[in-house]
Amino acid sequence: MGILFITNELCMDHFPGNKHPEQPDRLEAVLAGFENSHIKESVTELVAEPVEENEIFKVHEQRMVHHLKEVHADGGGRVDEDTKMSQGSWLAARLAAGAGLQAIKYLREGDGEAAFCAVRPPGHHATPVQSMGFCLLNNVALAAKHLLSLGEKVLIVDYDAHHGNGTQDVFYSEPNVLFISFHQWPLYPGTGAMGEIGEGEGEGTTLNIPLPAGATGDIYLQAWDEIALPVVERFSPTWVLVSAGFDAHRLDPITDLGLTSGDYNLITSRIIETVPIGHRLVFLEGGYDLKALELSTTAVLHALTGETIFPEPVSNGGPGQETISQIKKSVQEK
Ligand SMILES: [Zn+2]
Repeated sequence: MGILFITNELCMDHFPGNKHPEQPDRLEAVLAGFENSHIKESVTELVAEPVEENEIFKVHEQRMVHHLKEVHADGGGRVDEDTKMSQGSWLAARLAAGAGLQAIKYLREGDGEAAFCAVRPPGHHATPVQSMGFCLLNNVALAAKHLLSLGEKVLIVDYDAHHGNGTQDVFYSEPNVLFISFHQWPLYPGTGAMGEIGEGEGEGTTLNIPLPAGATGDIYLQAWDEIALPVVERFSPTWVLVSAGFDAHRLDPITDLGLTSGDYNLITSRIIETVPIGHRLVFLEGGYDLKALELSTTAVLHALTGETIFPEPVSNGGPGQETISQIKKSVQEK
Protein backbone atom coordinates (compact mmCIF):
# COMPACT_ATOMS: atom_id res chain seq x y z
CA MET A 1 0.00 0.00 0.00
CA GLY A 2 2.90 2.35 0.68
CA ILE A 3 2.91 5.80 2.20
CA LEU A 4 1.65 9.25 1.22
CA PHE A 5 4.07 12.14 0.80
CA ILE A 6 2.29 15.49 0.72
CA THR A 7 3.89 18.79 -0.16
CA ASN A 8 3.47 21.88 -2.32
CA GLU A 9 6.26 23.99 -3.83
CA LEU A 10 4.26 27.11 -2.90
CA CYS A 11 5.21 26.40 0.74
CA MET A 12 8.60 27.82 -0.30
CA ASP A 13 7.01 31.22 -0.98
CA HIS A 14 6.81 31.91 2.76
CA PHE A 15 9.88 34.05 3.33
CA PRO A 16 10.38 35.46 6.84
CA GLY A 17 13.54 37.42 5.98
CA ASN A 18 17.20 36.94 5.07
CA LYS A 19 18.62 36.29 8.54
CA HIS A 20 15.69 34.14 9.72
CA PRO A 21 16.44 30.45 10.53
CA GLU A 22 13.13 29.23 9.05
CA GLN A 23 14.16 29.49 5.37
CA PRO A 24 12.55 28.04 2.21
CA ASP A 25 15.63 25.85 1.58
CA ARG A 26 14.63 23.80 4.65
CA LEU A 27 11.90 22.30 2.49
CA GLU A 28 14.42 21.64 -0.32
CA ALA A 29 16.48 19.66 2.22
CA VAL A 30 13.41 17.63 3.22
CA LEU A 31 12.65 16.93 -0.44
CA ALA A 32 16.28 15.79 -0.90
CA GLY A 33 15.77 13.43 2.06
CA PHE A 34 12.70 12.06 0.29
CA GLU A 35 14.59 11.63 -3.02
CA ASN A 36 17.42 9.79 -1.22
CA SER A 37 15.11 7.50 0.68
CA HIS A 38 14.80 4.84 -2.05
CA ILE A 39 11.18 4.26 -1.08
CA LYS A 40 9.76 6.25 -3.98
CA GLU A 41 8.25 3.22 -5.69
CA SER A 42 6.02 2.66 -2.65
CA VAL A 43 4.99 6.32 -2.28
CA THR A 44 1.95 8.23 -3.49
CA GLU A 45 2.90 11.89 -3.94
CA LEU A 46 0.12 14.42 -3.33
CA VAL A 47 0.05 18.17 -3.88
CA ALA A 48 -1.19 19.92 -0.73
CA GLU A 49 -4.36 22.00 -1.07
CA PRO A 50 -5.27 24.98 1.12
CA VAL A 51 -7.36 24.44 4.25
CA GLU A 52 -10.95 25.76 4.18
CA GLU A 53 -11.49 28.84 6.32
CA ASN A 54 -14.22 27.19 8.44
CA GLU A 55 -11.71 24.50 9.46
CA ILE A 56 -9.24 27.14 10.68
CA PHE A 57 -11.85 28.51 13.10
CA LYS A 58 -12.07 25.13 14.84
CA VAL A 59 -8.68 25.95 16.40
CA HIS A 60 -8.02 29.67 15.97
CA GLU A 61 -10.11 32.66 17.04
CA GLN A 62 -11.60 34.84 14.33
CA ARG A 63 -9.67 37.95 15.37
CA MET A 64 -6.34 36.14 14.98
CA VAL A 65 -7.25 34.92 11.51
CA HIS A 66 -8.49 38.38 10.53
CA HIS A 67 -5.21 39.86 11.71
CA LEU A 68 -3.22 37.42 9.54
CA LYS A 69 -5.41 38.33 6.56
CA GLU A 70 -4.85 42.03 7.23
CA VAL A 71 -1.07 41.57 7.34
CA HIS A 72 -1.34 39.56 4.13
CA ALA A 73 -3.41 42.31 2.47
CA ASP A 74 -0.66 44.76 3.40
CA GLY A 75 1.84 42.59 1.48
CA GLY A 76 3.30 41.00 4.61
CA GLY A 77 4.83 42.14 7.89
CA ARG A 78 5.55 41.13 11.44
CA VAL A 79 2.98 39.14 13.46
CA ASP A 80 5.18 38.36 16.48
CA GLU A 81 8.69 39.21 17.62
CA ASP A 82 10.18 36.36 15.55
CA THR A 83 7.36 35.55 13.12
CA LYS A 84 7.01 37.43 9.86
CA MET A 85 4.81 37.08 6.79
CA SER A 86 5.80 37.72 3.18
CA GLN A 87 3.51 37.97 0.16
CA GLY A 88 3.32 34.17 -0.17
CA SER A 89 2.95 33.34 3.54
CA TRP A 90 -0.82 33.23 3.89
CA LEU A 91 -1.21 30.70 1.09
CA ALA A 92 1.77 28.69 2.39
CA ALA A 93 0.20 28.58 5.87
CA ARG A 94 -3.15 27.41 4.48
CA LEU A 95 -1.38 24.74 2.41
CA ALA A 96 0.60 23.55 5.45
CA ALA A 97 -2.64 23.23 7.41
CA GLY A 98 -4.56 21.73 4.49
CA ALA A 99 -2.01 18.95 3.95
CA GLY A 100 -2.98 17.21 7.18
CA LEU A 101 -6.70 17.20 6.41
CA GLN A 102 -5.98 15.88 2.93
CA ALA A 103 -3.78 13.13 4.40
CA ILE A 104 -6.57 12.10 6.77
CA LYS A 105 -9.04 11.88 3.90
CA TYR A 106 -6.74 9.60 1.88
CA LEU A 107 -5.75 7.48 4.86
CA ARG A 108 -9.39 6.97 5.85
CA GLU A 109 -10.07 5.72 2.33
CA GLY A 110 -7.36 3.12 2.84
CA ASP A 111 -4.91 4.71 0.41
CA GLY A 112 -1.78 4.56 2.57
CA GLU A 113 -0.11 3.04 5.63
CA ALA A 114 1.01 6.46 6.85
CA ALA A 115 1.51 10.01 5.60
CA PHE A 116 4.34 12.54 5.77
CA CYS A 117 3.38 16.22 5.39
CA ALA A 118 6.45 18.07 4.10
CA VAL A 119 5.17 21.57 4.71
CA ARG A 120 6.15 24.95 6.12
CA PRO A 121 5.60 27.25 7.95
CA PRO A 122 5.60 24.95 11.00
CA GLY A 123 2.64 25.06 13.37
CA HIS A 124 3.13 23.80 16.93
CA HIS A 125 3.72 27.20 18.61
CA ALA A 126 0.57 28.78 17.15
CA THR A 127 -2.03 29.09 19.93
CA PRO A 128 -5.78 29.62 19.50
CA VAL A 129 -5.20 33.38 19.70
CA GLN A 130 -1.62 34.04 18.56
CA SER A 131 0.77 33.15 15.74
CA MET A 132 4.26 32.91 17.25
CA GLY A 133 7.63 31.13 17.16
CA PHE A 134 7.87 30.93 13.32
CA CYS A 135 4.34 29.37 13.24
CA LEU A 136 1.22 30.91 11.65
CA LEU A 137 -1.53 28.25 11.88
CA ASN A 138 -1.32 25.12 14.06
CA ASN A 139 -1.22 22.40 11.41
CA VAL A 140 -1.19 19.43 13.77
CA ALA A 141 -3.94 20.85 16.02
CA LEU A 142 -6.22 21.41 13.01
CA ALA A 143 -5.72 17.78 11.96
CA ALA A 144 -6.38 16.55 15.51
CA LYS A 145 -9.58 18.63 15.76
CA HIS A 146 -10.79 17.09 12.53
CA LEU A 147 -10.10 13.57 13.84
CA LEU A 148 -11.90 14.43 17.10
CA SER A 149 -14.98 15.42 15.09
CA LEU A 150 -14.87 11.95 13.51
CA GLY A 151 -14.94 10.34 16.98
CA GLU A 152 -11.26 9.37 17.09
CA LYS A 153 -8.91 9.35 20.12
CA VAL A 154 -5.77 11.16 19.09
CA LEU A 155 -2.20 10.81 20.34
CA ILE A 156 0.04 13.75 19.44
CA VAL A 157 3.76 13.24 20.03
CA ASP A 158 5.89 16.36 19.59
CA TYR A 159 9.65 15.71 19.51
CA ASP A 160 10.64 19.13 18.20
CA ALA A 161 13.37 20.56 20.46
CA HIS A 162 10.98 23.34 21.50
CA HIS A 163 7.86 22.76 23.57
CA GLY A 164 4.67 22.66 21.47
CA ASN A 165 2.91 25.29 23.58
CA GLY A 166 0.28 26.03 20.93
CA THR A 167 -0.81 22.42 20.60
CA GLN A 168 -0.80 22.01 24.38
CA ASP A 169 -3.02 25.11 24.75
CA VAL A 170 -5.57 23.87 22.22
CA PHE A 171 -6.07 20.52 23.97
CA TYR A 172 -5.21 21.29 27.62
CA SER A 173 -8.69 20.33 28.87
CA GLU A 174 -9.53 17.83 26.10
CA PRO A 175 -9.76 14.22 27.37
CA ASN A 176 -9.69 12.63 23.90
CA VAL A 177 -6.33 14.06 22.84
CA LEU A 178 -3.16 12.86 24.57
CA PHE A 179 -0.36 15.39 24.00
CA ILE A 180 3.19 14.22 24.75
CA SER A 181 6.13 16.58 24.24
CA PHE A 182 9.86 15.86 24.40
CA HIS A 183 11.80 19.13 24.44
CA GLN A 184 14.95 20.84 25.63
CA TRP A 185 14.62 22.53 29.01
CA PRO A 186 14.98 25.39 29.57
CA LEU A 187 14.36 26.76 26.08
CA TYR A 188 11.91 28.90 24.09
CA PRO A 189 8.97 29.35 24.64
CA GLY A 190 9.45 28.56 28.36
CA THR A 191 6.40 26.31 28.78
CA GLY A 192 6.38 22.51 29.07
CA ALA A 193 7.40 21.96 32.69
CA MET A 194 6.76 18.45 33.98
CA GLY A 195 4.00 19.80 36.25
CA GLU A 196 1.89 20.86 33.22
CA ILE A 197 -0.38 17.82 32.92
CA GLY A 198 -3.68 19.20 31.59
CA GLU A 199 -6.72 20.43 33.49
CA GLY A 200 -10.36 19.58 34.14
CA GLU A 201 -11.46 16.62 32.05
CA GLY A 202 -8.07 16.77 30.33
CA GLU A 203 -6.05 16.29 33.51
CA GLY A 204 -3.51 13.56 32.76
CA THR A 205 -3.77 13.87 28.97
CA THR A 206 -0.80 16.25 28.70
CA LEU A 207 2.64 14.77 29.39
CA ASN A 208 5.75 16.92 29.28
CA ILE A 209 9.24 15.43 29.18
CA PRO A 210 11.62 18.39 29.52
CA LEU A 211 15.17 17.17 28.82
CA PRO A 212 18.55 18.75 29.55
CA ALA A 213 20.83 20.00 26.77
CA GLY A 214 22.83 17.11 25.32
CA ALA A 215 20.17 14.43 25.87
CA THR A 216 20.80 11.51 23.51
CA GLY A 217 18.72 8.85 21.78
CA ASP A 218 19.01 6.29 24.57
CA ILE A 219 17.41 8.78 26.97
CA TYR A 220 14.53 9.44 24.54
CA LEU A 221 13.89 5.71 24.14
CA GLN A 222 14.02 5.09 27.88
CA ALA A 223 11.65 8.02 28.52
CA TRP A 224 9.32 6.68 25.87
CA ASP A 225 9.33 3.11 27.24
CA GLU A 226 9.18 3.92 30.95
CA ILE A 227 7.12 7.13 31.08
CA ALA A 228 5.17 7.71 27.88
CA LEU A 229 4.24 4.21 26.73
CA PRO A 230 2.27 3.24 29.88
CA VAL A 231 0.27 6.48 29.57
CA VAL A 232 -0.35 5.83 25.87
CA GLU A 233 -1.50 2.28 26.56
CA ARG A 234 -3.98 3.47 29.18
CA PHE A 235 -5.25 6.17 26.81
CA SER A 236 -5.56 3.71 23.91
CA PRO A 237 -5.35 6.08 20.91
CA THR A 238 -6.89 5.31 17.53
CA TRP A 239 -4.68 7.75 15.57
CA VAL A 240 -1.22 9.23 16.04
CA LEU A 241 0.03 12.61 14.80
CA VAL A 242 3.76 13.31 15.12
CA SER A 243 5.05 16.89 15.33
CA ALA A 244 8.37 16.04 13.73
CA GLY A 245 10.80 18.78 14.56
CA PHE A 246 14.33 17.88 13.47
CA ASP A 247 15.94 20.56 15.63
CA ALA A 248 16.66 17.98 18.36
CA HIS A 249 19.41 16.78 15.99
CA ARG A 250 22.90 17.42 17.38
CA LEU A 251 23.83 19.58 14.36
CA ASP A 252 20.99 22.04 14.87
CA PRO A 253 22.34 25.60 15.13
CA ILE A 254 19.68 27.02 17.51
CA THR A 255 19.29 24.18 20.06
CA ASP A 256 21.55 21.81 22.04
CA LEU A 257 20.03 18.33 22.09
CA GLY A 258 22.01 15.28 21.04
CA LEU A 259 19.96 13.20 18.58
CA THR A 260 21.10 11.79 15.24
CA SER A 261 18.98 10.83 12.25
CA GLY A 262 19.34 7.19 13.34
CA ASP A 263 17.65 8.06 16.63
CA TYR A 264 14.77 9.69 14.73
CA ASN A 265 14.18 6.39 12.92
CA LEU A 266 13.97 4.39 16.16
CA ILE A 267 11.92 6.90 18.13
CA THR A 268 9.41 7.38 15.32
CA SER A 269 9.03 3.60 14.94
CA ARG A 270 8.19 3.22 18.63
CA ILE A 271 5.65 6.04 18.49
CA ILE A 272 3.72 4.95 15.43
CA GLU A 273 3.37 1.31 16.42
CA THR A 274 0.91 2.35 19.15
CA VAL A 275 -1.90 2.72 16.57
CA PRO A 276 -3.00 0.60 13.59
CA ILE A 277 -1.41 0.98 10.15
CA GLY A 278 -3.23 3.64 8.15
CA HIS A 279 -3.76 5.93 11.16
CA ARG A 280 -0.25 7.44 11.26
CA LEU A 281 0.53 11.00 10.25
CA VAL A 282 3.79 12.97 10.49
CA PHE A 283 4.14 16.76 10.15
CA LEU A 284 7.38 18.61 9.57
CA GLU A 285 7.85 21.19 12.35
CA GLY A 286 11.26 22.83 13.06
CA GLY A 287 14.84 21.86 12.20
CA TYR A 288 17.41 24.39 11.01
CA ASP A 289 20.46 22.42 9.87
CA LEU A 290 19.95 21.39 6.26
CA LYS A 291 21.94 18.14 6.42
CA ALA A 292 20.16 17.12 9.62
CA LEU A 293 16.79 17.81 7.96
CA GLU A 294 17.71 15.74 4.92
CA LEU A 295 19.01 12.71 6.86
CA SER A 296 16.25 12.81 9.47
CA THR A 297 13.56 12.95 6.78
CA THR A 298 15.02 9.83 5.16
CA ALA A 299 15.16 8.14 8.57
CA VAL A 300 11.54 8.96 9.44
CA LEU A 301 10.19 7.95 6.01
CA HIS A 302 11.80 4.55 6.51
CA ALA A 303 10.25 4.29 9.96
CA LEU A 304 6.86 4.86 8.34
CA THR A 305 7.49 1.95 5.96
CA GLY A 306 8.52 -0.26 8.89
CA GLU A 307 12.26 -0.27 8.20
CA THR A 308 15.07 0.29 10.66
CA ILE A 309 17.83 2.36 9.04
CA PHE A 310 20.56 4.50 10.52
CA PRO A 311 21.77 7.25 8.14
CA GLU A 312 24.01 8.12 11.12
CA PRO A 313 24.77 5.89 14.14
CA VAL A 314 22.36 6.18 17.06
CA SER A 315 23.53 8.26 20.02
CA ASN A 316 23.86 7.45 23.72
CA GLY A 317 25.48 8.52 26.95
CA GLY A 318 23.94 11.99 27.25
CA PRO A 319 22.29 13.45 30.37
CA GLY A 320 18.62 13.06 31.30
CA GLN A 321 18.50 10.10 33.70
CA GLU A 322 17.61 12.42 36.58
CA THR A 323 14.70 13.93 34.63
CA ILE A 324 13.32 10.47 33.90
CA SER A 325 13.50 9.53 37.61
CA GLN A 326 11.78 12.78 38.62
CA ILE A 327 8.91 12.34 36.17
CA LYS A 328 8.41 8.69 37.18
CA LYS A 329 8.32 9.74 40.82
CA SER A 330 5.76 12.49 40.18
CA VAL A 331 3.58 10.12 38.14
CA GLN A 332 3.66 7.51 40.94
CA GLU A 333 2.68 10.13 43.53
CA LYS A 334 -0.61 10.81 41.70
ZN1 LIG B 1 11.73 23.78 17.28
